[in-house]
Amino acid sequence: MSKRRAATCQCSICHQTRPCSDVAPGESIREAIATEIQKQTPAWNSDQPVCTSCLNQFRAEHFRHLLEEEKGELSDLEMRVLDSLREQDSIAANVNEKFDQQLSLGDRISDQLANFGGSWAFLILFAAVVLIWMLFNGILIAQEAFDPYPFILLNLVLSCLAAIQAPVILMSQNRQEAKDRLRSEYDFQVNFRAELEIRLLHTKLDQLLSHQWQRLLEIQQLQLELMEELAERRDKPSS
Ligand SMILES: [Zn+2]
Repeated sequence: MSKRRAATCQCSICHQTRPCSDVAPGESIREAIATEIQKQTPAWNSDQPVCTSCLNQFRAEHFRHLLEEEKGELSDLEMRVLDSLREQDSIAANVNEKFDQQLSLGDRISDQLANFGGSWAFLILFAAVVLIWMLFNGILIAQEAFDPYPFILLNLVLSCLAAIQAPVILMSQNRQEAKDRLRSEYDFQVNFRAELEIRLLHTKLDQLLSHQWQRLLEIQQLQLELMEELAERRDKPSS
């Protein structure tokens, strides 16, 4: 019996002689662990046996790498989200404020005039002035009227007013149009970025899911392996 126990094998990593039951043949080692071993000892290949204690060291190393990768991936994701948030902030600035800042004094005045021209106050005031003018010249002081019926001067004043008002309104409209254009450009940029962001998020999510799934399987396999080994060791009659 002692002769059978004496069969020994040499570990190709630590070069120690151990009982053959404690040494695993290279082909039986899982691929992920095998690459881990090859990473640290490039001379090793899958034909060479490895002792259990060395194998466990490599398993622990593999475990550690898996968990580290996961952590790194998450923090990388957070960084990217933060970056995109920062960029998004600068784009979604208030368009109205930005546009108002670049207006000249003439622009402001014409805007005010157009605003006033399009209000009820202007209409009422206008009607009142015309009415007073007509009453004044038509009835009250008909003898010494400065603009007797049919009010030629009033006509001239009204034509002048119309001639001035038209370009003011046009200017204001042009500006409004420019503002709308700017706003739609900003909208497009924000939408475009959001779309890209969503697409990126989808890709990231898919990637993360498949990665995590793989990693979970890997960890589970590792645990199963260890458990099987433990069970084997327990079932074996102790020396
Ligand atoms: Zn060893």
